[in-house]
Amino acid sequence: MSETNKYMMVGERLCLDFVNTISWRESEEKRRDWFTSYDKLVDWSHHAGILEEKQAQLLLKKSIHNPSEAEQTLAQAIQLREAIYRIFRSFTKEELINQEDLTNFNKVIRHYYQLMHLVPMENDFSIHFDIPEGAFDSMLPPIVQSAVDILTSERDLKRVSQCEGDHCGWLFFDTSRNRSRRWCSMADCGNRAKARRFYQNKK
Ligand SMILES: [Zn+2]
Repeated sequence: MSETNKYMMVGERLCLDFVNTISWRESEEKRRDWFTSYDKLVDWSHHAGILEEKQAQLLLKKSIHNPSEAEQTLAQAIQLREAIYRIFRSFTKEELINQEDLTNFNKVIRHYYQLMHLVPMENDFSIHFDIPEGAFDSMLPPIVQSAVDILTSERDLKRVSQCEGDHCGWLFFDTSRNRSRRWCSMADCGNRAKARRFYQNKK
């Protein structure tokens, strides 16, 4: 497996790929969390393009000297990930949002958005966060922003779907024209469903 494809990124939006860092999310036996350490969170964030190589190296080095703060950030990231997951999942299932999740997510938003500022680009502005260099949670603001962007757009929110694969639980942003995407990946859940149909037809 090459360095570049060690993480599956099929969510089409940063916050959904972040949510999809648990394999077999909805299976008690097979569930596997990719973020088993702070290093893994940093590595994934680098892979996702939200930490530059230099930043990632700095964070990994700092975490050796301050493991408890790194651990704390990992716990914070996982808590954020699960809140985002449940909020989106409620939408896909047309269920009520858990108020506690929304309250917690709002707290995180308030914290990071006070650090937000706009930087003029050639044709528009881009969003930056004033996070001190080497802050353990450097990777979180863009993820929060990605989730806010979708949640505040009815059109985008309607495109968030959950994979139909048994126990998969992954979320994705459906970019197909008629919103017909059913699987996180055709090569994984899509193929398994196809194989099962084939087997059932033979019986
Ligand atoms: Zn799937």
